[in-house]
Amino acid sequence: MAKSKTTNTTNPLGNTTIPPPVKPAVDDEITEEDSSIIKKDTLQPVKIDCPTNEVNRGKLLTKILDSLNNKPQTQQIKDSLTSWKNEAGYSIDWDTANKDYKPKYYATGDTNNVEITIYDSSCIIIGGLHTHPKGKDGYAPGPSPKDIFQLAEAFIYNPNFKHSFVLGADGTEWALSTNSNTGNTATIQQFISNFPPDSILNGNEWSNDYKLPNIEDGLYIFVDNLSRLLRDIFHYPKEKSQTYANLLLMKYYLNCEIDLYIKDDDGKMHKLDIELQYDNNNKLQDIKVQICN
Ligand SMILES: [Zn+2]
Repeated sequence: MAKSKTTNTTNPLGNTTIPPPVKPAVDDEITEEDSSIIKKDTLQPVKIDCPTNEVNRGKLLTKILDSLNNKPQTQQIKDSLTSWKNEAGYSIDWDTANKDYKPKYYATGDTNNVEITIYDSSCIIIGGLHTHPKGKDGYAPGPSPKDIFQLAEAFIYNPNFKHSFVLGADGTEWALSTNSNTGNTATIQQFISNFPPDSILNGNEWSNDYKLPNIEDGLYIFVDNLSRLLRDIFHYPKEKSQTYANLLLMKYYLNCEIDLYIKDDDGKMHKLDIELQYDNNNKLQDIKVQICN
């Protein structure tokens, strides 16, 4: 059953004051003895137990990614991450005869986007994979706002298209994955009609002309502030904070029914979650990023 929780009338963050930008802690002056500075920005997700279906989807994503990683096209794509500033990607074809996941229709894009084939009547396209090289600015290794909507739209067009893998230039491997069954397109259809991509996005990013109810700032500024909150106050790594801010938005505001997975140190894909924790006065106390065991 779909979550009945609706977040359109309240702001889960309440009147949390997001502090102004903090100058990064003296990059050049880190000394050996000041361990507090070295520890900053390295907070890792907390491991938690998760429902079987979420764990199983992690296993499926691991299986798909492992198959793809064995293919030369994937090595080519990984090589392009370091040598090239533009995104590259391909569709993922489920080869029923050989029970194998295969790269299909390699595509290249610009610094911020690549369009891949989402449907072909001659094969079964179950998702896509693309790179996030270090472009000129605004680099985040994890999935972008546009990636979330591209997956949603692809899924509606082709219900087999359920997974979008992203390879970051820092070596991180991510996946957006729908938690709907093939027949259950209604929730994602609802998400797209509640949040039309043309108005909520500006190119690859959140549009600042878009306002969520009860939030004063435009969406771009709001999420950027969230990202800084995660980085400067809660000490999550800088390059992951943007993606974690998107995850917070996905869970508490968008109800998009799309989940975020990451490859952990064990080489397997695990679901990420994010939780807002409050004190007795309903004031935001902590933001916990969690990862499924
Ligand atoms: Zn992307």
